[in-house]
Amino acid sequence: MIRFKLAGIPVAMHWTFFLFAALIGAAGREDGVRMAAWVVVVFVSVLLHELGHAFAWRAYGHQPSIELQGLGGATRGDPDRPLPPGKQALVALAGPVTGLLLAAVAFVVGQLLVIPRESLGARVLYELWWANTVWSVFNLLPVIPLDGGIIVASLERRVRGGRPPRAAFYLSVAVGAGLALYFATVQQWIAVLLLASYAYQAFQTLRALSRVEADAPHPALAAAMVALKEDRLDDARAAAQLALMGAKKDVELNVALHIIASVHTRQGRPDDALNILLSMPRGLKASPLALGEAWTTKGEHLKASTFFRDAFRDAPVRETAYRYARSLLDAGLDNEMRELLTSQASLGYSDETCAGLQDALYERGKFEESSRVGAHRHQKFGSAAAAYNAACALVKLGRNDDAMKWLTAAADKGFRDVKHLDEDPDLAPLRGSAAFDALRQRLVTAPA
Ligand SMILES: [Zn+2]
Repeated sequence: MIRFKLAGIPVAMHWTFFLFAALIGAAGREDGVRMAAWVVVVFVSVLLHELGHAFAWRAYGHQPSIELQGLGGATRGDPDRPLPPGKQALVALAGPVTGLLLAAVAFVVGQLLVIPRESLGARVLYELWWANTVWSVFNLLPVIPLDGGIIVASLERRVRGGRPPRAAFYLSVAVGAGLALYFATVQQWIAVLLLASYAYQAFQTLRALSRVEADAPHPALAAAMVALKEDRLDDARAAAQLALMGAKKDVELNVALHIIASVHTRQGRPDDALNILLSMPRGLKASPLALGEAWTTKGEHLKASTFFRDAFRDAPVRETAYRYARSLLDAGLDNEMRELLTSQASLGYSDETCAGLQDALYERGKFEESSRVGAHRHQKFGSAAAAYNAACALVKLGRNDDAMKWLTAAADKGFRDVKHLDEDPDLAPLRGSAAFDALRQRLVTAPA
């Protein structure tokens, strides 16, 4: 690799550049002087073409760099600041325009100078004209990654608002393949090789583009999911209904229907939700979590609990554990609840899953059981949050001394939130006691 600077622009040159220049020129230039002159002509021509790009980059405030290798060169601007399409087209145009100017100068000088036609000087001028004309015209072909292809792609991006320039890639495939066939008939194998490989690359890009588009969710569906997450329920329903009309895949249909059902449930229309969930199209399955929610909203806790049980068995995570436990408590299924709590220890649920059980018990006033789940979590996972919540449950039971012990245990496991300690209404009965003040002081002075 040879490196130098030209007008402050770094140029890196790979040895393959000379190799290809010599190979192209080998035919008809047997003697060494003419061969050397040809390589110099190619070097000057390609370099000036790239300098044309480089000065255009610089006009837009970039610090360009040039690389010459194999069959040609490439000029890049600052990688993290892509140009808007119009300017990108002008940067691409600047290379061939510089080449055509050089060709014109060589032509005019050749006409004006009075030198013998077969002299080396006349030969060099002729080759400068010829090489620059051919190189510029070749680069203006509408085939990506040639300058002409980049110009077409930039203009398409400009028209289509920055979306992938599909038409430019289709054009690259058609023109590239067509010209490759043509050059094969006149046995210009280097042109065949280049154009065929450009056409193939463009074809691959088009295939990748369609794969990406096929995998992307329906835009309305994506909007519906965001709206549901942000509790904009009417927006979520409208977007999901839009997605329903354009859904191409089962999974999109399934998600759209569940979003609509979820909005019905959350807006207090569980019957409408059940209508959707109980008559899903063939091949689709209503989620047990959604069914459980709808039955819960109808007040049918026994029915809801069977669906939440399925959801919990499918995926015993915090969310399903919380809903399953709450439905059992609401349905008065104390035996099943006891079973669930026993299996909690034996089946080795995760800390998060147990947290769902602890929360549900606390919410339904089962403070004794909730504190015991907290104790289990604290012992098994060293969870500070479990100890803290166990303390809250014990305060509800009036067992303030035990509650203080659990608060201390939470602090031992890293609980440091003084603000929470001061403001949590659950802890009101503890405040003012000497033990509480001592613990508070400990948190204030403890390292984080
Ligand atoms: Zn170029």
